[in-house]
Amino acid sequence: MQRFSAVSAVPFLPYINYYPVRPMQRSSATARRLVGGAVCLDFANAIDWDSDGSERPAHADAWAAPADLALWGTRVGLVDSAPPVVAHGRELAAARSLRRALHDLFAAIAARQEPSREAVARLEGDYAQAISASELTEVDGSWQLAWAHDDPRRIRFAAAVDAVDLLRDDERLARVRMCPGHNCGWLFVDTSGRRRWCSMEVCGARAKMRRLYERQRRTRMDLLGGRRVSRDDTAVHPSGECRNAADR
Ligand SMILES: [Zn+2]
Repeated sequence: MQRFSAVSAVPFLPYINYYPVRPMQRSSATARRLVGGAVCLDFANAIDWDSDGSERPAHADAWAAPADLALWGTRVGLVDSAPPVVAHGRELAAARSLRRALHDLFAAIAARQEPSREAVARLEGDYAQAISASELTEVDGSWQLAWAHDDPRRIRFAAAVDAVDLLRDDERLARVRMCPGHNCGWLFVDTSGRRRWCSMEVCGARAKMRRLYERQRRTRMDLLGGRRVSRDDTAVHPSGECRNAADR
């Protein structure tokens, strides 16, 4: 009886048992968080990445269909709302290919490693295409590269140009980081010099929850004299898995 009372007195126990696990939802092009601090990094963050650098399943992809790419481009200001860009499957595949290359390239830079030749070559190819298809246009007193309003490639082209701009900027480039969150792999520019997570509300909170859970588990093990916690108690623990991609 005395042992039972001690366990019941652990103040955070109800939190473990009632942690809400929501059903998996598809990540949305219109709701995806934009935390990269550079268009090219948000472009790479349009999907989640495993720790080995491979892409997470389709539910973690904000670009499930060609229309999503156009929606995303409009949201980040790369596409005017009118006339609308009509993306197609081939352009979606090209954008995903550049996304993979940008993630490989900037993840390597964040890890102080040499980027793969394939990733650099892919960016070179898209950048060359972007320049040849562009024209210089004056907008509000400054001159910018611009593409035809209805050219579906303009989202990919703008991301490629932004990536080259970031590579040329040694101060910002030295601040590129990759979030260490479980199944995240998002990239961002750490302007404060103290940023660790892509988002405190997502990966920061999950890491905090995991630490809390581990403390709870150890405390319970101690109180129970080393006996393992029951399966029911662990069934809903906050593992940090991206259970609800729509949060992103
Ligand atoms: Zn993260």
